[in-house]
Amino acid sequence: MIRLLLVALSLCLSSAVLAQSATERAFDAAIAQTEAALPQLGAEAFGVDVKAYRDALSLRRFTSRHWGGEIAVAVVSESKESGSCSRYAAYVRLPPERGAVRLVLCPQFSTPGADDLRRLTILHEMVHVVAGSNECQAMAFAARIEQLATGRFTPVIRYWEANGCAGSGYALP
Ligand SMILES: [Zn+2]
Repeated sequence: MIRLLLVALSLCLSSAVLAQSATERAFDAAIAQTEAALPQLGAEAFGVDVKAYRDALSLRRFTSRHWGGEIAVAVVSESKESGSCSRYAAYVRLPPERGAVRLVLCPQFSTPGADDLRRLTILHEMVHVVAGSNECQAMAFAARIEQLATGRFTPVIRYWEANGCAGSGYALP
């Protein structure tokens, strides 16, 4: 019995550790692409304050012209697939409350494999963190970072069309 408990406990621990390292890899990869894109990005791209974006991603703290003042980024893992986690891999609770904005990582975020999608998800959600809820803005900015860093971007045309981004004024590379 004790032995079984120990086995169960170690399984729990290892899946938590795996999820943790997948999240860390996603942040590290998103930071690396952003740093690579930075020289060509300018101070602002698609209405996103690039310094605020870089700080939010790397330091999890940024000074915001959009929200006003200093904002902390709280990255939270949600274990239940209910509420917004039934529809998304990750989402941002807006607006910030008491000086903090929450980036919620849902169970779907930790799907085995899917490292590239996790990286893109972080790039995308960080736009919501610093600039608000516009899906077209978030997709255009994330795609530009990918394009500048690697010379190509993840095909998001179905998501682009589903959100009616054609007439949004934002553009994919
Ligand atoms: Zn979004």
